[in-house]
Amino acid sequence: MLPVPYLSISQINKYLTCPKQYEFRYVQKIPESKGSPLVVGSSFHKVIEESNRQKLDTGEILSDEEMKDIYDSYWKKNVHDIDWKPDENPDEEKERGFILAKAYLHDDIGKSLNPAGFEAKFDVEVEGIPFRGFIDIIEEDGHIRDLKTSKKTPAENVAEQSLQLAGYSYAYRYLTGNYEAGCSLDFAVSLKTGPKIVRRETEITDYRMDRFKDTFYNVANAIDKEIYYRNEGTACSWCSFRDICKGEE
Ligand code: SF4
Repeated sequence: MLPVPYLSISQINKYLTCPKQYEFRYVQKIPESKGSPLVVGSSFHKVIEESNRQKLDTGEILSDEEMKDIYDSYWKKNVHDIDWKPDENPDEEKERGFILAKAYLHDDIGKSLNPAGFEAKFDVEVEGIPFRGFIDIIEEDGHIRDLKTSKKTPAENVAEQSLQLAGYSYAYRYLTGNYEAGCSLDFAVSLKTGPKIVRRETEITDYRMDRFKDTFYNVANAIDKEIYYRNEGTACSWCSFRDICKGEE
């Protein structure tokens, strides 16, 4: 039995990163600390979503001042949860997310969005196992877009390796009976030279879809069997459960 009544991409990714981390988070239900990138990313998302909602209504995106108001109020609600690292500057991090949101909305990639839905929730099944998630943006023409913020330019093949896009494609096909027009990860990257917007596109082939279903099924099966080993490695350095897991080491 699953400890949560459905699997999601974030659960699968957590299990694949380290099964013990999954156990701490979803079986023992120990809260995880929230790093600043999470709040920067969700504040960024909020502005993109609200601006595109207005575009649907009026044909125009939000003004920079309206974007700033939305960003600031979302940030204010969530900033208290951040577990700051000693070398982070909260004001700079806050500003970084806003600069990225503005850059994305004024870039040709952001301007070309024609969304039919935002944060589209889905509940489907893979091999009889419940699968839940939210697709950032589905465009009118059937393109699936996921938005990311980053401090580094993503690799050219990052979308080709995205389990998330394969999962969203699965849900889209399950619910509509059609193939999506395409899938992409849209990145807003903060570089020292300024913000940069890049799109990484991919196609979900039948072979790749089979691999997604295979991964989904096998992770669910391992969770059902309560296989929670420690996958010690680079993930330990940013793991929220490090103290619990490694004690006084
Ligand atoms: S500290 Fe390392 S081994 Fe332990 S739960 Fe975290 S990632 Fe896994």
